[in-house]
Amino acid sequence: MSNHDFSKIYSHSKIELFNKCRKQYHFNYLDPDVAPIKKQFIKPRDYKTKGNAVHGAITLFYYLPKKKRSFDGLKECLKQAWFAETNMFLQPPLGLFGGFKDIDHERQAYLDSLKLLKNFLAIEEEQSPSLFYVPVKTIKKSFEDYEKMIKPINKKISISGKFDRIDELENGNLRVVDFKTGKSKNGINQLEFYKLLTELNFDKKVDQVTYYYLDDGKVKDYDVSKVKTGDIKKGILDKIKVIETAENFPPNPTRLCDHCDFKEICPVFK
Ligand code: SF4
Repeated sequence: MSNHDFSKIYSHSKIELFNKCRKQYHFNYLDPDVAPIKKQFIKPRDYKTKGNAVHGAITLFYYLPKKKRSFDGLKECLKQAWFAETNMFLQPPLGLFGGFKDIDHERQAYLDSLKLLKNFLAIEEEQSPSLFYVPVKTIKKSFEDYEKMIKPINKKISISGKFDRIDELENGNLRVVDFKTGKSKNGINQLEFYKLLTELNFDKKVDQVTYYYLDDGKVKDYDVSKVKTGDIKKGILDKIKVIETAENFPPNPTRLCDHCDFKEICPVFK
């Protein structure tokens, strides 16, 4: 059992969820009837299964001996990483447990995942990064990665998160790499959070945050070398203060509601 008080630990996605919809945040973290059993509300989603599988396959790829780090190696890794979050021991095809309406839907998602992995390999071969950190090999237990990264930013509050990969740059400083499996190009609001969390955990300076957009094989680098850690910390603490002093958690209905696991109990739709 973990000794952490998770109510005082904030990830970037936790903070973002509050800004997206306070009601969803409340269901997820605070509601005394819903939060303790929130796993029961989780719906399988095809895009989540695919995203987890591609991330998992890349992690497993890094544990292969170097000579096996090829597309054939990645294909084998994808087979191992194709699992359903809601039923981890089910063997493929995952069907409804993976969020797929039929076998053709699942097959297409699998082929799409192979395409993302092909794009990943092309970037990887071009960049040949010097690896500093990769997630745990036990991809179904990736919460361990989150727990290991928990760091206090003041006497009461801690932050944490999961990294896809961290590289060592030629000057000895670090760059954080994040793999994006969706079509959306957003994510730059995570940059500073990543920098702070990495520097707190590894006591090394982060110069760069890089996104691999696997859908089209593009790479985007952001220079964060000049951003002051103290400023990042202050910005995060300001946001957390708003969350911790909030008295109302109204729903914020948008088109994103279709992806909300609590839609069936949300007052807007009930
Ligand atoms: S269904 Fe929409 S409005 Fe309701 S909690 Fe979820 S995201 Fe918020």
